[in-house]
Amino acid sequence: MPRFPSALLVVAASLALQAQAPGRITPAPAPSPVPLLASYPDTPAGRLMKEIKEHAELVAYVEYLTDQIGPRLTGSEQLRAAQRWAMAEMKKLGAEQVHEEAYEFGLAWSRGVDSARLLTQNGLRFRVDQQAWTPGTRGPLQGELMLVDARNLDELKAYHGQLKGKILLRSNPFDKRPPMPRRNGGDMLAFQAERDAMTQFLLEEGALAVLSMSPRKNGLSFTTSGPGRDPKKPALPSATVPQEPYKMLLRQVAAKEPVRLELNLGGAFSAKPVQATNVIGEIRGSERPDEIVVVGAHLDSWDLGTGATDNATGSSVCLEVLRAFQATGLKPKRTIRVVLFSGEEEGLLGSRAYVEAHKAELDAIQAVLVHDMGTGMVRGFDLQARENARGLMAQAIAPANDLGVRELSLRVMNSTDHAPFDRAGVPAFAAIQDPVDYFEGTHHSQMDYADHLQPDQLVQGAQAMAATAWELANMEARLPHGVVPRPARPAAEAPQTAH
Ligand SMILES: [Zn+2]
Repeated sequence: MPRFPSALLVVAASLALQAQAPGRITPAPAPSPVPLLASYPDTPAGRLMKEIKEHAELVAYVEYLTDQIGPRLTGSEQLRAAQRWAMAEMKKLGAEQVHEEAYEFGLAWSRGVDSARLLTQNGLRFRVDQQAWTPGTRGPLQGELMLVDARNLDELKAYHGQLKGKILLRSNPFDKRPPMPRRNGGDMLAFQAERDAMTQFLLEEGALAVLSMSPRKNGLSFTTSGPGRDPKKPALPSATVPQEPYKMLLRQVAAKEPVRLELNLGGAFSAKPVQATNVIGEIRGSERPDEIVVVGAHLDSWDLGTGATDNATGSSVCLEVLRAFQATGLKPKRTIRVVLFSGEEEGLLGSRAYVEAHKAELDAIQAVLVHDMGTGMVRGFDLQARENARGLMAQAIAPANDLGVRELSLRVMNSTDHAPFDRAGVPAFAAIQDPVDYFEGTHHSQMDYADHLQPDQLVQGAQAMAATAWELANMEARLPHGVVPRPARPAAEAPQTAH
């Protein structure tokens, strides 16, 4: 801040106050990063972008999906409602071949009422969120808290005989030990097997439940795919606690007086395995209908908030693309197929199932574009190390260059629904988006509401997706296919979690 004489500051402050509505001081909104175009060229891509800029419906789509339908956990009735709504919208928007494709999902899981209350010390009630696909507590249980920051089975075995009737604190943010060397050579299956053995040990020792600390600050909880949805695997009631109360519990435990907690986790599994589905609709190509550009996003979400930025936004962008084609009457040469996946949050299950079911037509896919990083503007696409796609992708995004869509990174990103296509040799790319408050805020947390939309950035994202899809559908050339060898992952890199 520049130095002003203090009297001047007072004058400036009172002038600023007078400019506000009485009694309200609101900070000025941050300037939008989206370039404002004076006009759009009279080309098909230009007409699509102009239509979206002037008449976009996608904020209304997001608000319906989130404010009216709500969170959309795969296997839930709410996701089914969202899928029925999306199919009806697709039909209204002129899409053809609107249908669902089913795959086996396993047991569904639904959240109940979660609560925690200290029975000793300050008696506080604090937020807990059960980890999805873990067993509930079957009513309130009471136990003494104990910090168990064992990082592998050997360290855990040192607690033999001490865990009966205990509720375990399994995160230790104050851990001063040097980081563990990478276990099992990065082998995920071996890693999982060790995790299962640790859980089995806790069960055999008589531990009651497990609490972990949210990785997010400022009271935010966080949820992600748990250790597994296989009911045959060992599992304990597990929950996430926001950082502030969690660290308080650690301080209380460190003070050596017994800390007793009442914990109630109400989540429950379905009685039987369920099927999940992907929702599909398309604009049939006028010249090469059997060649396909897939425009996709996942309609399912986590369930602490309403799944607005993860991923009602991407799903609504897909619908907006259909709307823009209908409104402009433009007919692409290749088929543009919108796929709204499910089961993304449990491990890209819907897109894996799609790739498996459509094996025979993978060669006919020109490209896959996926939008799944919230409300932020689209800057370009991750090329997944497909250097040989750069030229044609540069051509495809060219109409949107002036809107800030210029980046073609070789980065390999595996945490959303383009990844199964990519691994099967199909050129498949996730949009690079400004994070806005995604990674520190809305992503998988209880603040994922439509409140966090940046409408102009979301509109720009739909413009980018529509224009790029059009160009890919109409260019003469085909994008090269094939599995691209990857540079080995650096040893320190953690496995990515699903978006
Ligand atoms: Zn996502």
